[in-house]
Amino acid sequence: MAHVLIIGGGPAGCSAALTLRLRGADVTILRAGPSALEKAKRVDNYPGLSQMSGSDMQKNFDEQIKEAGVQEKNGLARLIQKTRKGFTVLAGDDMIKCDAVLLATGIGRVARLVGEDTLVGQGVSYCATCDGMLYKGRPVAVVAQDESFAEDVDFLRSICPVDYYMEKPHAAPEGVQVIDGKPKALRAEGEQVILTSENDEKPYDCVFILRPAVAMSTLLPKLEMNGEAVKVDEKMRTSVEGVFAAGDITGAPYQAARAVGQGNVAALAIAQYLNEKEKA
Ligand SMILES: Cc1cc2nc3c(=O)[nH]c(=O)nc-3n(C[C@H](O)[C@H](O)[C@H](O)COP(=O)(O)OP(=O)(O)OC[C@H]3O[C@@H](n4cnc5c(N)ncnc54)[C@H](O)[C@@H]3O)c2cc1C
Repeated sequence: MAHVLIIGGGPAGCSAALTLRLRGADVTILRAGPSALEKAKRVDNYPGLSQMSGSDMQKNFDEQIKEAGVQEKNGLARLIQKTRKGFTVLAGDDMIKCDAVLLATGIGRVARLVGEDTLVGQGVSYCATCDGMLYKGRPVAVVAQDESFAEDVDFLRSICPVDYYMEKPHAAPEGVQVIDGKPKALRAEGEQVILTSENDEKPYDCVFILRPAVAMSTLLPKLEMNGEAVKVDEKMRTSVEGVFAAGDITGAPYQAARAVGQGNVAALAIAQYLNEKEKA
């Protein structure tokens, strides 16, 4: 049975999962955290559900996908790689194999440091597991947005000296060397990256940026964008064959009903894609 990985468990991802199950696919939903919908106090414009809170709506979606036999996994997708047969997705420390991918990650609220973009892969990394060993024994910095990366930080600390910077105030992992002052900018100087914070400037061999959201340019570098939105056609196909997108990730208006509709269109297109692939 073909396996579809849906990245994102909000309205778009859940809607697509239900339809894909009806079409006989094996479906996994991967999610890094709560959906935008869960933050809505009350939703007044979703047909059939009157004056319901966003978190109750999401609970309904979650129960429905469970009943439909959708597999669920927690974790942040960090990288999607095309293989000869399909795709491999790096999620947390796991590699998930699948035949098609649906991007339903909502609006990527990805904060950026000045200079970050140009240094990715050249002293700036988003993945401690992928790149940590390259910097064994060398001074590195971690820029963390929240406390959810304690495991990655522990791993890095077991192999390198680590300075810890916070993008937003949170409880730092125990025993870590916290540098005061918000990180602001990065620049290359020789083989090192200089990290400028509110109070200081320090050189590092690598700066690991750990955020609960991943920029699309990092997740799938070849993906065509329309500004901040993933470019899709009328069947929610992206520029990468076998990768589809639905919901807020495809642009405004940011609405639950639209996300659900697009999830449904994407699911039917994925079913057709898998069918054609099987016959080829
Ligand atoms: C306060 C508030 C009020 C709102 N009120 C309304 C309203 O009244 N009516 C209305 O129609 N809409 C409303 N919305 C908008 C609505 O919630 C969104 O349009 C809808 O949730 C979009 O669904 P989505 O599935 O595209 O993305 P989301 O709901 O944002 O779900 C995205 C999912 O992707 C996951 N994810 C992201 N990146 C990764 C990654 N790299 N790896 C793994 N998982 C990842 C997230 O953890 C999440 O599960 C409101 C939104 C907010 C914030």
